[in-house]
Amino acid sequence: MIDVPVDRIAFISHPKAIMHQMPFPKPHLESFENPLRYQMAERYLEKSGMLDRTIRAKAPRAGLNDVLSVHSPYLVHAVEILSDIGSGQLGESAYASPDLLRTALLAVGGAMKGVDMVLADEVKHAYVFMRPPGHHATSSNSMGLCYFNNMAIATKHAMKDERIQRVSIIDFDDHHGNGTSEIFYANPDVQYISIHEYDYENFGLGHYAEIGHGDGRGTNVNIPLVETSPDVSYESAIKRVVEPALKVFKPQLIMVSAGYDAHYADPVGNMNVDSRTYWKFGASINRMVHSLNAKGSVWVLEGGYNPFALGYSIYASLEGLSGKPSLALEDQVERELNELIVESNIEVIDKVLETMNPYWSKKKSNKM
Ligand SMILES: [Zn+2]
Repeated sequence: MIDVPVDRIAFISHPKAIMHQMPFPKPHLESFENPLRYQMAERYLEKSGMLDRTIRAKAPRAGLNDVLSVHSPYLVHAVEILSDIGSGQLGESAYASPDLLRTALLAVGGAMKGVDMVLADEVKHAYVFMRPPGHHATSSNSMGLCYFNNMAIATKHAMKDERIQRVSIIDFDDHHGNGTSEIFYANPDVQYISIHEYDYENFGLGHYAEIGHGDGRGTNVNIPLVETSPDVSYESAIKRVVEPALKVFKPQLIMVSAGYDAHYADPVGNMNVDSRTYWKFGASINRMVHSLNAKGSVWVLEGGYNPFALGYSIYASLEGLSGKPSLALEDQVERELNELIVESNIEVIDKVLETMNPYWSKKKSNKM
């Protein structure tokens, strides 16, 4: 394993990331994306000593023009107006608070700062620990606890003025990042790879047949795993799809939509992984950054709604990313393995590869 000095990981946060909160009691979905998840995860990371091993940086506030690089003026204006009013609904599970605009602009600014630190070679990896999350926000709609798409804005920022030509986004949040996928769907220079929970009885966005449009065909990769997927299915998705996809696309920068709601203890997601899977993502991405000679990786927090599990999961990601072995953390308990689920996911991954391989082999032969 390649060892990257841990002092080359930035950890970007801001005390005011806790300001925005939606006015809903438990068990409403909206109540889980709250300041407490942020505070408890941060406290765990601090107490564990992990943050002392990173370069701490404060998220700057992004400007409205940065947000307009991705979102429609109407959406940006609507967030401004309802934040001024102090309440109101912007979209499904996306409500305003008096602090929404300033908190959301800090989250965008943090993601952009992560990109700047990595592209300036100040660090190899940056972890952007901010909220609210962003990957459900489309170019014109806030939804699903997301207002501005931090990931998409930071990716566009990286590609501005041709600083970087090819970016891969890996999204391992429990849910499909429909916003990020929509924004880059026809863009051949941005590869979007999402591993998510998928309901094969009701269907929905995030099917493996969504491969991109026009010149972007073959750059949208969905790995729709079945409900209650265990660690072994995620490991297989990383080895069989994510790593080969990166090798074909050869990104100069890897962006990571790091959502932790696939954790078995999460109140929102229905998957069955623990922090060992998040270590694997960290270790794999670190390895890929080095073997592809990419500038580095920028991680942007998305979901993850169990405040205890969130701390363990981020800790494990950072441990993997720094080339350190996986530590035994308290959430790593043995759980029953359902062979049927494992088998179903093998079939899903076979389908994904069958769908993507024609595009990947074309790309490989074009390069020769
Ligand atoms: Zn999610």
